[in-house]
Order: sequence, then C-alpha cells, then structure tokens
Amino acid sequence: MNNSSQHSSPPNRQEPTLTVVVPCYNEEEVLPETANRLGTLLADLIRSGDIDQASHILFVDDGSKDMTWQLIETFALKNKTFKGLKLSRNKGHQYALLAGLHTAEGDAVVSIDADLQDDVNAITQMLLNFKTGDDVVYGVRNKRTSDSFLKRFTAESYYNLLRKMGVDLVHNHADFRLLSRPALEALKCYGEVNLFVRGVIPTLGFQSSIVEYARDKRFAGSSKYPVTKMISLAINGITSFSPVPLRMISALGFFVSFASLLLIIWALGVRFFDPEAVPGWASSVIPIYFIGGIQLLSLGIVGEYISKIYSEVKQRPRFIIERSV
Ligand code: UDP
Ligand code: MG
Repeated sequence: MNNSSQHSSPPNRQEPTLTVVVPCYNEEEVLPETANRLGTLLADLIRSGDIDQASHILFVDDGSKDMTWQLIETFALKNKTFKGLKLSRNKGHQYALLAGLHTAEGDAVVSIDADLQDDVNAITQMLLNFKTGDDVVYGVRNKRTSDSFLKRFTAESYYNLLRKMGVDLVHNHADFRLLSRPALEALKCYGEVNLFVRGVIPTLGFQSSIVEYARDKRFAGSSKYPVTKMISLAINGITSFSPVPLRMISALGFFVSFASLLLIIWALGVRFFDPEAVPGWASSVIPIYFIGGIQLLSLGIVGEYISKIYSEVKQRPRFIIERSV
C-alpha cells in the first residue's frame, strides 16, 4: 500500500471537470427532484463555461430496497450528465460516500446528501473558491433550525467532546464539501476500514476555506440515519481518532488502586485496634461492586478499540461496486 501522498498533475482550475457525488439509500421519494436541481445547476454551469462539459453527477446507490437504482438507471439513460454506482448491499453513508469519491473522475469533486438539505447553490461558490486555489472547501451550516432541538443538542455536545479529545473538526460541517483532485488522491491513501470522513479531511492539509449555507428541511422521505446508525457513527468518530478513552482507563485505574490502598489500611486498623469491630457486610460487598463495575466499563472501552484493530487487520474491501452506468 502506498502511504505517501501521491503527486498528480495540477487540476484544471479554469474550466474544471466537476463530479457531484450523491450517496442514496432508499431515496426514491426525493431523487427525481434532486436530479432535477443538480442537473439544472450543472447545465447552467456548463453553458456559462464555468465547468467542462464532461462534468457529471454520480449517484451511489447504497443497497437501496426501493426504486432508487431503477430511477438512477433511467436518469443515466436519458441524460449523459447522470451516472450511477450500485453497491452490492447497504454499507452505510460513509462507505457509499467513499465509493463515490474513489470512483469520481474530474478536477473537483463535490459530495452532497440526496435529500436536498444542503443548498445546491452553494456549489457555485465552492467552485469559485476552488478556482482561486483552494483544494478543500467545506460547506458549513450557518443555522441548524431545520434540525430538532434534541439532534442539535446532542450533535453540539458530541462535537465539543471530540474537540476536547483532540479531534480536529470543522464546526457545523458534515459531508457537504468540495475536494480537488490532489486532495482526493491524498484521501485515497487512507487505507483504514473504519473511516470517519469528516475527521480525516482536516488531517489532509491543503489550502482550504468554508462556504456558509442555510440547512433546509429534508425535501421528501424520512431520515435514513436512525439512532443506531448515529450512535455507531459517533463512536467511530471517537475511536478512529482519539486515544483519550484509553488514557482515561489508566487514570481511573490509578485512582481506584490508590483508593483501595486507603481502604486496606483502614480495614487493617479496624481489625487490629478496634476490639468491638464486626466486619461489615457493606464494606466487603460495596468494593466488589465498585471494582466489578469499573472493570466492566474498562473492558468495554478496550474492546471497542480491539474491534477496530480486528477489522483493520482483516483489510477487507470497504465497498464493492456491483455495476456502473
Ligand atoms: N445514506 C446512505 N446510506 C445509509 C444511510 C444514509 O447512503 O445507510 C445517505 C442518504 O441517502 C442521504 C445521506 O446519506 O443522502 C444522509 O442521510 P439522511 O439525510 O437520512 O441523514 P440525516 O440528514 O437525517 O442525518
Ligand atoms: Mg438529511
């Protein structure tokens, strides 16, 4: 595996070929409108000479169970600006995104959700930044009023926690961004299986900037990110980047050892110097529970990392492309 960054020829920044990567999971309700808006945008940009006419939209079907893939096929048949990839099964948003990014050609690649929550018109500004030399342009939500209070609160607390653990993240940025060809080639060097894309991008380096936009409500359909998927993404974000939980176990271990030392001294004191003392039930049982609990907690956190090592060692392919149009 190549671990150094790859040197590709500089991208065409005057009239770049643009690829828009759209991961889709059961998005039949929203996809026609998404294709319509993105298609119109690209056609306009091609007409005005802002992007090359080979520019296109790449839908990645993440193993949908509805008509998503059939829709993508019809788009591709009717119009050559639409292309599609079909993953062999549902692998989750991050992998669908990665499959698209690895397949995407062109000088600049924009990734955007299928549900039109991200403002497609922000792509025009991203392109302008790219033309002035930026290799990474982050789409940043300037307000999150379209998300529920609970979602905003948990997301906010989570990202604060990540920052405290030393994970470098762009505030209020998810996976709506532009990457230049060199940035994309660098991303391809990351061979890890548990990839938290928005955490990796800032570690790439390169000249970057942000474009603000107002995040809208989902155009149609329901969220494809149930709580279980969200929790697993959140855990991945921590365990893929930060050794802090492991250090916390060591700190806890030191604290507990010190506390038990004091307890032992106290118990010995009672045993030898207090003739009335009846060894208490509580003082023997409580430490057992206490230490048992902490051991379980520690094992759980260690196990989380071991499970990551396990999947990294296996080096399984992160996605399999079944077909492309
Ligand atoms: N998505 C995917 N695979 C999944 C779940 C979601 O490709 O297993 C896509 C989905 O189609 C959408 C994007 O990821 O384009 C974000 O999902 P969603 O909008 O449902 O998440 P939310 O905005 O509710 O967090
Ligand atoms: Mg959404």
